[in-house]
Amino acid sequence: MLKVRGLTKRYGDTDVVHGLDLTVRRGECFGLLGPNGAGKTTTLRLLLGLIEPDSGSIELAGIAVPQHAREARMKVGVVPQLDNLDPDFSVRENLLAYGRYFGMDKAAIAARVPELLEFAGLASKADAQIAQLSGGMKRRLTLARALVHDPDILFLDEPTTGLDPQARHLIWQGLRRLLNAGKTIVLTTHFMDEAERLADRLVILDHGRVVAEGAPRALIESHIEPAVVEVYGEGLETWTRDYADQVCLRFETIGETLFCYTDNAARAIDALKQAPALRYLHRPSSLEDVFLKLTGRDLRD
Ligand code: ADP
Repeated sequence: MLKVRGLTKRYGDTDVVHGLDLTVRRGECFGLLGPNGAGKTTTLRLLLGLIEPDSGSIELAGIAVPQHAREARMKVGVVPQLDNLDPDFSVRENLLAYGRYFGMDKAAIAARVPELLEFAGLASKADAQIAQLSGGMKRRLTLARALVHDPDILFLDEPTTGLDPQARHLIWQGLRRLLNAGKTIVLTTHFMDEAERLADRLVILDHGRVVAEGAPRALIESHIEPAVVEVYGEGLETWTRDYADQVCLRFETIGETLFCYTDNAARAIDALKQAPALRYLHRPSSLEDVFLKLTGRDLRD
């Protein structure tokens, strides 16, 4: 569904995207991860043909971009980072207006509306104004709107940012339904749990380059020790000096927390008995650990 080779985009003398290669197969959920400024949004804009690359090639649903970007965009549904629903229109009218934008005739769109409302869980809100919707409802409507012309592939830019946990689960459920129906999804996200849950494969970008690529589980297994013990509290410095080297395969201190990476958490926890004031959290390693290891812990813009 998507083939990208050697994609480069330069602003000033910075390569914001540098020699990017990506392949996304039909029916796959593909994650684009990276800290702020890594080049995710620029990549999405290049893929949609909204900006021109300096070099490289893009084939989207078999169509060359940016050469035939308009044609390619007919195959794509886009959920932007910020909801841009029309506040002057009702829920139903938003769907109708968006369908017109894709050149669909009124009857064809009207026929799809009930199904889209059901998908968004908004069947009872068809005539509501946008201002009456919760954040979660607006997101679901934006997602349903992106499906109005029945695209093969969906681009989602941070689909659950700003939503509460219940609303996030509803969005995930909707995306799962779309994947089960054979749609292809490309998503950017800051949430590692979201990427771990949804993405079949992902890339981690940093400074416009791919620093890791693979299935979430495979990335965790290849980059990170199996378990993490997070330690915090009174006396951490002393304990770190006396024990961390012995009981952790690798460790890092961030703020007031020690991250002890290990294949033998019991040993680390046993050593913590020497400092009863310390508290700890023992957990399996996650995609977030991979992300932080590869992109560093410095705050980005
Ligand atoms: P992300 O989406 O991963 O946060 P972006 O693709 O938005 O990253 O931005 C990557 C880098 O490109 C940033 O340093 C940003 O400031 C820069 N950038 C993005 N768009 C432009 C532009 N139109 N002109 C100049 N610099 C830009």
